[in-house]
Amino acid sequence: MTSRKPLLPVADALAQIIQAMPEMGVEPLPLTDAIDRVLAENIHALVSHPPHDVSAMDGYAVALSDLADGQTTLKVIGESAAGHPYDAPIEPQSAVRIFTGAYLPQGADAIVIQEDTSIDGDHVTILERPQPRRYIRKQGQDFAKGDVIAEKGTCLDARRLALIASSGHGTVTVKAKPKIAIISTGDELVAPGITPQHGQIVASNGMFLCHLLNILGADAVDYGHIPDDQKALEDAFSHAQTADMIITTGGASVGKHDGVAHHMASGDGLAFWRIAMRPGKPLIFGHLGQTPILGLPGNPVSTGVCGLVFVTAAIKAMLGQDTTPQTRPAKLATDLPENDQRQDYLRASLSYDDQGQAWVNAFDKQDSGMFQSFANADALIIRPPHAKPAKSGDIVTILPIPSLI
Ligand code: AMP
Ligand code: MG
Repeated sequence: MTSRKPLLPVADALAQIIQAMPEMGVEPLPLTDAIDRVLAENIHALVSHPPHDVSAMDGYAVALSDLADGQTTLKVIGESAAGHPYDAPIEPQSAVRIFTGAYLPQGADAIVIQEDTSIDGDHVTILERPQPRRYIRKQGQDFAKGDVIAEKGTCLDARRLALIASSGHGTVTVKAKPKIAIISTGDELVAPGITPQHGQIVASNGMFLCHLLNILGADAVDYGHIPDDQKALEDAFSHAQTADMIITTGGASVGKHDGVAHHMASGDGLAFWRIAMRPGKPLIFGHLGQTPILGLPGNPVSTGVCGLVFVTAAIKAMLGQDTTPQTRPAKLATDLPENDQRQDYLRASLSYDDQGQAWVNAFDKQDSGMFQSFANADALIIRPPHAKPAKSGDIVTILPIPSLI
């Protein structure tokens, strides 16, 4: 097993992973079950909204040509309520009582709000001349039949689902959820909630990855933690190969107990191992049979950062979503030294000044064993290889850490 090959640039690693991901199939789902799922088709409205010209207020539908300059008294000839349209045309010198959401009768071109009228039996006096078409919601002004109201690749939230429902659909076609196997490796690991004994630590990567994957719209299958033993690893791999992808943590480096690296380096499925990134240098990618496998380093910060960068892109690729990293500029609140040959992902806090300018402050301690600073970070500052020293006030690129992650 050699470790002296030049390190692969992060962008190349990312491109290889994205390119190798199988795109998921599709399935129809009732809208009631489609929250958080990814649309596999553009959604065209089946009906217009509103379906007809409707009133936006309670009042009277009138024809402006019937109104004199001062006050006008009109005969109330009927009522149009939501769900109960008045289907006849409006007659000369008459008005139709109308309520919010009700269809505008044919021939009416203005709504007089209730507050601008006085009633006497079946007659209404218009006290104030209404503006033409004021308080009339035009047919299709929200969306027209045939309009695209949700695009392929959209992750469906409650509002989008309600919009799709209002456009006449009861089901949508979504991407099938990728099933991702998670295997944590390490003799030292005990499950969360177990008090670690001498030599042990609590395994946190599996839990992190399960949550991350679920947030990304995948189904995580946690295989728990397995010891640093080739046979145990092979058994776990043979079970996990039915998944759409396998993610391992730990055992990715050059040590003699780093079983994932040994296994991948000795087979023929290795695509790359070791990348020019900090944290995350020992990253492994390849295939076990047809199944892609991503080997993350065991340090929780490395797993976390590689999860944000590579797992996010892999799942988006499987779901047919845009895989472009969601980076943006921010101003540095501190100085940073020159960078070496590895792309750095610095944990940082983010704040905004009165002008709305984002300022990013790199934490002092960036050791990949410092888990707490990862949990406290709002963003990662991306420092390209060999970046020159940066001063407070310089613009840098950041990767904000999405909420819930
Ligand atoms: P490894 O990549 O196996 O060399 O592990 C690197 C470091 O991460 C070691 O200190 C491990 O104890 C720790 N580590 C490995 N796996 C986990 C895990 N699942 N949860 C928390 N820490 C881990
Ligand atoms: Mg280990």
